[in-house]
Amino acid sequence: MLLKLKFIMNVCILGNGLTSLALAKTLVNKGVNVDIFSNKKQVKTNHDRTIGISKINLEFFNKEILNIDKLSWNINKIEIYSENLNNERILNFQNNNQKLFSVIRNYELIENLTKKLKKEKLCKFKKNLNNKNITKQGYDLIINCEYSNFITKKFFSKKIEKNYNDYAYTTIIKHSKTNNNKAIQIFTSRGPLAFLPISKFETSVVYSVKGNQKIDFINLVRFYNKFYNILHINNFSKFELQMSNLRNYYYDNILAFGDLLHRIHPLAGQGFNMTIRDIKILSEIIQKKLNLGLPLDVSVNDEFEKKSRHINYIFSNGIDFIYEFFNFERKTKSKIFSKTAKFLGKNFNLNKKFIEIADNGFLL
Ligand SMILES: Cc1cc2nc3c(=O)[nH]c(=O)nc-3n(C[C@H](O)[C@H](O)[C@H](O)COP(=O)(O)OP(=O)(O)OC[C@H]3O[C@@H](n4cnc5c(N)ncnc54)[C@H](O)[C@@H]3O)c2cc1C
Repeated sequence: MLLKLKFIMNVCILGNGLTSLALAKTLVNKGVNVDIFSNKKQVKTNHDRTIGISKINLEFFNKEILNIDKLSWNINKIEIYSENLNNERILNFQNNNQKLFSVIRNYELIENLTKKLKKEKLCKFKKNLNNKNITKQGYDLIINCEYSNFITKKFFSKKIEKNYNDYAYTTIIKHSKTNNNKAIQIFTSRGPLAFLPISKFETSVVYSVKGNQKIDFINLVRFYNKFYNILHINNFSKFELQMSNLRNYYYDNILAFGDLLHRIHPLAGQGFNMTIRDIKILSEIIQKKLNLGLPLDVSVNDEFEKKSRHINYIFSNGIDFIYEFFNFERKTKSKIFSKTAKFLGKNFNLNKKFIEIADNGFLL
């Protein structure tokens, strides 16, 4: 019994958002003790937010974290249009009617993970101690998933940041019954507008708009919608968008994680997908240590940073490049970028490569 206890590792996770919960479940599944410290100023879970998870990432999630097939709606086609090119379709992704990605409601994923974790003996939810004494509590690893707290300010303030001066508007539309397995993105004169199906009757909408001027979002959704017979549009949320990449992933046994490492523009729906890929990398490093009976210490953080930082940096800059590509066209009103995208998308091998990168990032 004593021998067994000796090898139980204790990890503390700061934050109780999607990232923290998914990571906590991964670790608990490996027999690691996890304490989740939640911030008392917890933001109410937004019901109009959805998240697209790529096929490979969903398979990993189902196998290594929690089976969420029941919560997910499958998408087997993506169509991209450009307002600048007379609303022509410029890109079209599909793979023999197979699933490309799945859409999940954020709050359902959070609720399911929380419910499962609350039943786990190895997991405890604790109130935030403002994090000041957290380093003295003897945890093998401290994983910080909060974008702003005491630990973030003290150890993780050096970032490469970019403010887009873009604002994301999100809502859910209710419509008449349709098969609804096709995601649509329109590059409009104000910015990218995405329709992401979540059932035969509902589709989530994300519109990233340049500038903070007042817009009639609901009427714009109706204006651009050529795909659904809309019955009702829910209230919407609005928030400012940023890109950031953290310079150092860890300090001693404290590791930064999730959006704190990399925040990206949502136009390609890849933010949380990057985090799932990070969980995959971290999970493998930790599993190797556990198999060898080695402690979870700063070497885990060091190896994780070496394996993931450069991939994440290149990937988030790739997303930023796509953003700037269409932003330049929007500003100059030239058609050259949409035409180039249309031309490149017709190439079978390139099209396949785009699908592979969206699915698995740069992981081999
Ligand atoms: C409109 C929108 C749509 C998204 N769609 C997808 C998607 O389809 N697939 C996917 O993999 N990821 C997507 N993401 C990213 C994803 O929401 C976050 O990676 C994830 O919620 C982080 O969870 P967390 O628990 O780490 O952070 P939380 O503790 O949940 O908080 C992170 C907060 O930061 C916000 N945020 C995320 N990215 C940005 C940004 N660039 N600028 C400003 N705020 C931001 C989140 O909305 C959230 O409120 C999207 C992000 C936004 C803003």
